[in-house]
Amino acid sequence: MAADVFPSKSVTLVVPFSAGGPTDVVSRALAQAMSKDLGQSVIVENRLGAGGTVAAAYVARAQPDGYTILIHHNGMATAPALYKKLSYNPLKDFEYIGQVADVPMTLLGRKDLPAATASDLVKYVSQNKDKVSLANAGLGAVSQLCGLLFEEAVHVKMNSIPYQGTGPALTALLGGQVDLLCDQTTSTLPHINANRVKLYGVTTPKRIKALPNAPTLQEGGLKGFEMKVWHGVYAPKGTPPAVTARLTKALQQALKDPMVAKRLDELGAEIVPVDKQTPEGLKTWLKTESDKWQPLLKTMKVEAD
Ligand code: ASP
Repeated sequence: MAADVFPSKSVTLVVPFSAGGPTDVVSRALAQAMSKDLGQSVIVENRLGAGGTVAAAYVARAQPDGYTILIHHNGMATAPALYKKLSYNPLKDFEYIGQVADVPMTLLGRKDLPAATASDLVKYVSQNKDKVSLANAGLGAVSQLCGLLFEEAVHVKMNSIPYQGTGPALTALLGGQVDLLCDQTTSTLPHINANRVKLYGVTTPKRIKALPNAPTLQEGGLKGFEMKVWHGVYAPKGTPPAVTARLTKALQQALKDPMVAKRLDELGAEIVPVDKQTPEGLKTWLKTESDKWQPLLKTMKVEAD
């Protein structure tokens, strides 16, 4: 019966990172457009901590009624390899609503870092090793994964500094308190365009429309360096099928909204094709990404207690 009237009150979209960061930016655009279709407000709630696992655990345990849902990125696939005591299973403890958008990342340095290009940076990092600080949004955050890939590529372990999200990590980079940050274009573009940071390259295999003059990190000599951020929307396991179907419809409608398309396009994000904006599209992708990253992270021996 409840499913027939869903939603009869506002829906909370739980965001695992700080307000003003890339996940938050995508989430707010989505929430606004989803609420138009649902006829109820979709409230963004930022629940921070432990690379997104605090928020995911919270939603896994929430009432399975569709009123508390989660948006998360690649961290959903990587957390089981990083956290020994994870209280949820990403592949079992959720209903899958659909994928949202893919976002490229950018490797940035503080404005006065004495390296102009990716190859200068490789030399600088090799000479300065753990004196170089690398910001991230916590263990399992995409910024941390990108940092790990960079460390692997240059064979140098740097000094990693965790923040609660890209918001504070970027503030530290802009203030010159940290040397490097690899993060999504959704937050970094305005600072790149205003020349407030050094840009060493984009993480995608091809150059991106939003930054046509920026080389890829592969062009900069970092062979095989490839990373993109994807987002999915989840509900707690046991949410009735009619409710998840209604949420999937609202997600698909939101992604057709020209305002959302324009906003995401300006930020370098790409809305995924409709067949990925589905429960099956998300679940299959989550499994693919879990199979790709978890063994890799285990070999790298990165984990929390
Ligand atoms: N970009 C962050 C990450 O590294 C999260 C955020 O603040 O959106 O995962």
